[in-house]
Amino acid sequence: MTNFPANEQVIQIIYLVASALFILALKWMSSPVTAQRGVLAGEVGMVLAIGGTLLNQGITDYKWIAIALVLGTIIGIPLGLVHMTAVPQRTALSHAFGAFCVTLVGIAEFYLRTPNVPRFMMTVLSLEVILGSLTFTGSLMAAGKLQEVLPQRPLTYKGQNLVNLTLLAVAIMLAAYLVLHPGATLLFPFIVGIPLVFGVLMVIPIGGADMPTVISLLNSYAGLSAAAMGFVLDSKLLIIAGALDGSSGFILSVIMSKAMNRSFTNILFGAFGKVQISATNEAEVKPVRSATAEEAAAILAAANTVVVVPGYGMAIAQAQHKVRELYDALTRRGVDVRFAIHPVAGRMPGHMNVLLAEANIPYERLIEMDDINAEFSQTDVALVIGANDVTNPAARTDSGSPIYGMPILDVDKARTVMVIKRSMSPGFAGIDNPLYYLDKTLMLFGDAKSFVNDIVHELA
Ligand code: NAP
Repeated sequence: MTNFPANEQVIQIIYLVASALFILALKWMSSPVTAQRGVLAGEVGMVLAIGGTLLNQGITDYKWIAIALVLGTIIGIPLGLVHMTAVPQRTALSHAFGAFCVTLVGIAEFYLRTPNVPRFMMTVLSLEVILGSLTFTGSLMAAGKLQEVLPQRPLTYKGQNLVNLTLLAVAIMLAAYLVLHPGATLLFPFIVGIPLVFGVLMVIPIGGADMPTVISLLNSYAGLSAAAMGFVLDSKLLIIAGALDGSSGFILSVIMSKAMNRSFTNILFGAFGKVQISATNEAEVKPVRSATAEEAAAILAAANTVVVVPGYGMAIAQAQHKVRELYDALTRRGVDVRFAIHPVAGRMPGHMNVLLAEANIPYERLIEMDDINAEFSQTDVALVIGANDVTNPAARTDSGSPIYGMPILDVDKARTVMVIKRSMSPGFAGIDNPLYYLDKTLMLFGDAKSFVNDIVHELA
């Protein structure tokens, strides 16, 4: 660092602080207690990173940078305001923008440097544009599927995996040729264009149910392409930030796949979600027991232990504050109330934790799936609020079920089960839930927020 001019030294120090803040941000975000601090550290790190870059003496004109900053702000602010249930597709869009930017930089750098591109540089440039391009179109497809502007169901055809892998292999072979002959500029558009097509084809056969996992995998690719860009631009900050992004995205994908009992190859090539078993017709004719808010309140008030199982329906209904009121009302009556958290309840990891924390439910009352499952058999009432797939016992018992093997919350082992949902409609996996037909199960039909509100009134 001593060889750098003074201005460059300042920039390097700013980058060092920003890198440290990114690492701390990830560490702090891994616990709800420190998560807010983590977000702040990430934000400050990013402001420092941008500020440090703007100090670069190589910049002769700030006009285009200013235009880009204004444009980015105009797009970024509404993106930051979306409803929490739309965060997965919002995240996918962010990856698409990031990957698009990485690809454009890679294209510019290639044409600035060709024909004298050293082999290492050409290797990282190729990695940058290949990963950047496929992440760009793949993320757009994923966002479209999640927003339901594109069909959620997997589109498959015979030999699909072969076609996809061949395309990727061709792009990699062309990149290898370019590494050896960087003057073959005519080939370069192909290592951008083919991955663009590959990104679309890669996501087409994947069903909506697997999209959040795919997004976190694309997050990882976006990070790796940014790290490659760091080598191209000789920016240690980008290498560190890209590597952090790449590895954390990958770890998240692994956690999500495990929670859904899926392997990566199964997600990428298995066309999960195709199995939209229409058990609803059958479900409508099978008898279920239902109860009113008054009856539910009486059962809850008589219980010693209650475990609340929140799911996507609670998020959609924005019922978390009413759930807090229910928690208060029952706790006042001496009932022990805890919350069972499934790792993929809702539509993104940590979805339930965030909502319940927003409603100020004490964090020590939130119990992870592995810890609470053994306790359902000693629980008087399991109160399921808008959760479905994560409570489906078919995952344990029915080897023909598409969710067979997925770890679930064992609510069916509680003495009484009460389920708040609006109808007998299936959840995200599109399959029927045998839990609803058990003798011990009472269906509480209605919107989560208004039903919980009614129970709270009965308890008052
Ligand atoms: P779910 O299986 O999707 O079921 C949600 C239930 O909520 C539905 O059955 C729906 O039934 C009910 N509901 C909807 N709106 C409601 C309202 N206003 N009031 C009351 N109920 C309402 O949800 P989950 O049990 O939370 O499971 C999550 C699913 O998402 C799993 O299949 C998981 O694999 C998948 N997934 C999650 C993640 C993640 O990171 N969290 C990632 C990928 C995939 P009605 O229509 O009858 O009301």
